[in-house]
Amino acid sequence: MVAEEAVPSAARRQVAELREELAHHNYLYYVLDAPELSDSEYDALFHELQELEAAYPRLQSKDSPTRQVGSRAATPFRKVRHLVPMYSLQNAFSTEEVEAFRDRVRRLAGLDPDLGAELKIDGLAVSLTYAAGELELGATRGDGEEGEDVTANIRTVRGIPDRLDAGTVAGLPARFEVRGEVYMPRSVLAELNVQREREGQPLYANCRNAAAGSLRQLDWQISAGRHLEAFFYACDPHPAAVSGQFQLLSWLGKVGFPVNPHRRLLHGGTEIAEYLDHWQEGRHQLAYETDGVVLKVDELRLQQELGADSRRPRWAIAFKFPPEERETTVRAIEVSIGRTGVATPVASLEPVLVAGSTVERATLHNEDQVRAKDIRVGDRVVIRKAGEVIPEVVRVVRERRPTDSQPFEMPKTCPICGTQLVREPGEAATRCPNPLCPAQRLQRIRHFVSRGALDIDRCGPVVLSELLHRGLIETAADLFRLEQEQLEELPLFGKRSARQLVAAIRSRRHPASERFLYALGIRHVGERTARLLAEHFGSLAALRQADVTSITAVGGVGPIVAEEVAQFFASPGGRELLDQLLAVGVTPQGAEGSDGPWRGKTFVLTGTLSRWTRTEAEQAIRDLGGTTASSVSRKTTAVIAGESAGSKLQTGERLGVVVLSEDQFAAWLAAPEWEPLG
Ligand code: NAD
Repeated sequence: MVAEEAVPSAARRQVAELREELAHHNYLYYVLDAPELSDSEYDALFHELQELEAAYPRLQSKDSPTRQVGSRAATPFRKVRHLVPMYSLQNAFSTEEVEAFRDRVRRLAGLDPDLGAELKIDGLAVSLTYAAGELELGATRGDGEEGEDVTANIRTVRGIPDRLDAGTVAGLPARFEVRGEVYMPRSVLAELNVQREREGQPLYANCRNAAAGSLRQLDWQISAGRHLEAFFYACDPHPAAVSGQFQLLSWLGKVGFPVNPHRRLLHGGTEIAEYLDHWQEGRHQLAYETDGVVLKVDELRLQQELGADSRRPRWAIAFKFPPEERETTVRAIEVSIGRTGVATPVASLEPVLVAGSTVERATLHNEDQVRAKDIRVGDRVVIRKAGEVIPEVVRVVRERRPTDSQPFEMPKTCPICGTQLVREPGEAATRCPNPLCPAQRLQRIRHFVSRGALDIDRCGPVVLSELLHRGLIETAADLFRLEQEQLEELPLFGKRSARQLVAAIRSRRHPASERFLYALGIRHVGERTARLLAEHFGSLAALRQADVTSITAVGGVGPIVAEEVAQFFASPGGRELLDQLLAVGVTPQGAEGSDGPWRGKTFVLTGTLSRWTRTEAEQAIRDLGGTTASSVSRKTTAVIAGESAGSKLQTGERLGVVVLSEDQFAAWLAAPEWEPLG
């Protein structure tokens, strides 16, 4: 051991700095769900600190991030103590480190035990407490000893049982904990980020942060709308008849918990290496993100004997996959103008396959970010998908930079309308201030016709650009003035397609209020806020008259959003657009839905439907005058239960609500006057 006086002051300083830096990133990651570093960058800092602490044991401290789990920072949730502490895992970044782990286990256990391999799901760890078979508490891991009470939100996660069958849990104490990982499927994150981008909200960096941000919401209805799922892998204490981790996973599945089907018992180094290799590539085909493989000593008695060290079990290790990085060339840096005029530099790249799909473009976010990485046209760059979803430029390969390359300069004028771009002091964004800029117009109309808004078919960007270019439309209202004959004259259309486009537009003359409000593209007003406003005010006329105070009074609408809404209705541009839309005959319907046979009826959809997407089924209900809700109450007319319906189905059954299978729902849709309650 190195004596205290032998610790160089540089090492002491470095350890202090690393601890401070890691604590800062832990806060961003665990509390705010908004990391600034990628996991591999964080892991590199963590590793550096571990090495220094190993070289200078005098510098070790139980407050070091290397000995802690998660973050201790205060959050608005009630704190709850776990029955058994929730540990983190030791990490391995190479097969050598996995072998070192096996050596350690062999030394401690005196034998070479079987290891069970499970995918390491990139979500957030939760613990569910069941008392007398009922779900009593759902908690996050927190600092490992104490987590946050997120029970109401946990109940919205697909597949989590509210109640367990008494027979299957016989023999367990009255109160026990089941642990697992709540995650957000990739497709849900992709949709959520598109929506957040449209609403001008920050994007989630990856599925893990999105899942954590979605589960740690004060309003459980927001969690419910995020379509979270879960896999479970532990139970404390475990049933006496179960002696191995693999058996435990099967038992959890039998009792009614979702359990990941991908798992294998491995014997020896070759099998382990092959399994890790297989998933390094194979993981890109999965519907959810995995950041590694967890190897666990299978025998539960041996796990207990091996125990834990610095709050990481000695009987398990997480092999972390390296992020898949690829090199490509920047062909151009283009500046795209968004709906609100923000000018975003975007790299156009030589197409390259990364983590399962071809990447040709990557947003460079803003001028400062391009400068910081010094990305230039012609550069070879390393790219990867942040959180496996959004392509990002990691760094420039400086050695391969063409000698004549020039630093990127943000254009002075808008590439579309030529107006001088502006950047307010203290803001990262550069904007085109011209509200008549065709690019902004195009984006505003694209938003207006998009799926969550008026959902007008056949209005893709090519069609809209052409209509704008020909001067046939300037605003969304002009779409409703288009005549078939005008379109037929354009090379883009034939008789049939012109007729179809006009019909598609006209079919949307009477949108639901919430869709209409969302379509207006008011800053910060996403689909959810639009729904809250529509439900609260009942009519557009009432909302137009409302002041900031009465808008703030709407549950779930904060002062900033209220300010934007009031400003929109007071602004000349906002008023004009509304008047134009009303003048062409667009009349939003009340928030209760249209007059129809299902007026006043509320439906909850759960599980996967095979005939419709969720959005289509919801639209069909609204078309008949009904409404949809994300949670079941006694007022719910019926729960529509698709494949693998989860806790909402159980809640519905408990409350005595009518449950319809997909076939029954289809039958009712076909004959909406029929009353299945009778
Ligand atoms: P971890 O995520 O590396 O591993 C432990 C966790 O794995 C468990 O708590 C459990 O939630 C999860 N897990 C998933 N599938 C599992 C399975 N089948 N069996 C058992 N556990 C499973 O550890 P951590 O302590 O949660 O977080 C540390 C990691 O988080 C770091 O290595 C880093 O990658 C990341 N991190 C990143 C930042 C950042 O700024 N980017 C900051 C803090 C932490």
